[in-house]
Amino acid sequence: MSVRETVESIQLVDNHAHEVRPFSEDLTPERFASYFTEGPESYHARHTIHYRNAIDVLSEYFGVNSEQEVLDRRADVDFEAFSRDLFERANVSHILQDTGTPPDSSPDSFRRYTDAEVSPILRVETEMEPLIEASDDFSTFVSELRDLLVDAVQGPCVGLKSIVAYRTGLNISEPSRAEAATAFDEVKADWTGRIEHPVLLDYTAHLAAEIAGKNDVPIQFHSGFGDADAHPRYVDPGYMWAFMNRHPETDIVLLHASYPYTRTAGYIVSVLENVYLDLGMTIPFVQHGTHGVIRQVLELAPSTKLLYSSDGFYVPEWHYLAAKRIRADLADVLENLIEAGFLREAYAETIARNVLRENARRVYRL
Ligand SMILES: [Zn+2]
Repeated sequence: MSVRETVESIQLVDNHAHEVRPFSEDLTPERFASYFTEGPESYHARHTIHYRNAIDVLSEYFGVNSEQEVLDRRADVDFEAFSRDLFERANVSHILQDTGTPPDSSPDSFRRYTDAEVSPILRVETEMEPLIEASDDFSTFVSELRDLLVDAVQGPCVGLKSIVAYRTGLNISEPSRAEAATAFDEVKADWTGRIEHPVLLDYTAHLAAEIAGKNDVPIQFHSGFGDADAHPRYVDPGYMWAFMNRHPETDIVLLHASYPYTRTAGYIVSVLENVYLDLGMTIPFVQHGTHGVIRQVLELAPSTKLLYSSDGFYVPEWHYLAAKRIRADLADVLENLIEAGFLREAYAETIARNVLRENARRVYRL
């Protein structure tokens, strides 16, 4: 088999994705385009290469020629069948689902739309918010949160996940218990339903990392772009240096290729044994930049440290387009490296298997 054939045939493990949903509203072009951007639903969202490529791929899928025809066909699909078909074309065998969003997500509801195996990953901040609401004091809150996280990772969850990057940033400090208790009182005094206090978020990020490490599951951290709330500077994984060194027994997966801090992330995973790098969201968002992202991470990162994901959310096109993009562009990059004399064909195939499947199976103990 050629490298390309190998890349095309590997069944993917998608280590970070969300559930899909049928549309319940009118499908305008702006609405549809909003699923292909982290920006607002707007005229501009229809003018990214990512969205235009999605329209092109769907035009071919439906056998039509215009954006409007795609939308008309899309609005009328039998959603369960359409979604199952795209997951089958993506050839993904296992999806690790972030159940934190959309609301009321679960592997059971996701399984209506895909034949892939689905395992949950628990989003820490989403679980914290109702506990803050329900707890009268800090001790109760911490012990309830600890029990909840331990039950999750000793039960069905194959990992934990933190979105602290999108709340206060990856510059995670190490607050004392007393400082965290004071922060809890401040949060309770002015509770909005959303946790945004850096001291309480940082304290619980350490708690979650400690629980993940003790229970032999990884914890994912969003890094880089991926949410309109994210401060473009504080999503740099370089800010997590002290945190990552503080938890050497915990496997940490940096999500989103830390884009645009991809090279920083490649450096980090090359020196810290416990840190891994996911390529999700960046692929397919950066489109023609995908070659560059793959080449950049392979500059320093061992191929045993890189993981594929789609970060697909709400529309199954996303999961499908990510799979299509990684296969085409990983094959291109590996072929170029072989041609330029950096790699032998057999080892290029090992890289492909590691990135697309085997690393995730090992890191998440699937
Ligand atoms: Zn994500």
